[in-house]
Amino acid sequence: MPVNVAAYKAIKAELDAAGITLVAVSKTKPAEEILALYQEGQRDFGENYVQELVEKATTLPGDIRWHFIGHLQTNKVKLIVPYVQLVHGVDSLRLLKEISKEAAKKGIMVNCLLQVHIATEETKFGLNEEELAALLNGLNNDPLPGIRIQGLMGMASFTADMEKVKDEFRTLRALYDKYNTGHWSILSMGMSGDYRVAAAEGSSMVRIGSLLFGERGKK
Ligand SMILES: *Cc1c(COP(=O)(O)O)cnc(C)c1O
Repeated sequence: MPVNVAAYKAIKAELDAAGITLVAVSKTKPAEEILALYQEGQRDFGENYVQELVEKATTLPGDIRWHFIGHLQTNKVKLIVPYVQLVHGVDSLRLLKEISKEAAKKGIMVNCLLQVHIATEETKFGLNEEELAALLNGLNNDPLPGIRIQGLMGMASFTADMEKVKDEFRTLRALYDKYNTGHWSILSMGMSGDYRVAAAEGSSMVRIGSLLFGERGKK
């Protein structure tokens, strides 16, 4: 299925009107489909795999802002740091320290979101509230150079029960409000199946793949 430019335009207009940033999730998708949206003005693209992000970032236009939305392994941090606009899924101090080390080496700042576990599924990554509070407290006492925490990211349960999804997004929004000391500006929540629910619950950034690019094959 080719990229759906009409769907893109409609979703983009809808999100623009609400002041929400659209990250077009292009994982597994070829350069020409990314360029089709680029030509429409899209600049924020999301990728889940380090190698794929690096390949695309080094071959596609330099003004694309690449978002890493997958689970980042510490041994891949140095590969991605030069190319990434925002790392969405940071969920450990160990990972933050590694990002800080690589950022410092390169003399750059890396924007990060802390991932919070809001879904009931066991498989999703992320911090619970206690871990989030401990991590933020640790950073407060002992700041890491090269890291800019910009907010929170979360994924709701994969379910058709939109009441449940709404509750989960509401929980994330409440944590965002509770722990934001005024320096945060990004609440990344909402995907193809639930972005309108996320928008209504105060999302500032949604990550949408399949509505724009069609269903993905398994990688
Ligand atoms: C793949 C992915 C998305 C996009 O999912 P769609 O349902 O295709 O919109 C969003 N966020 C994360 C973390 C993803 O891995």
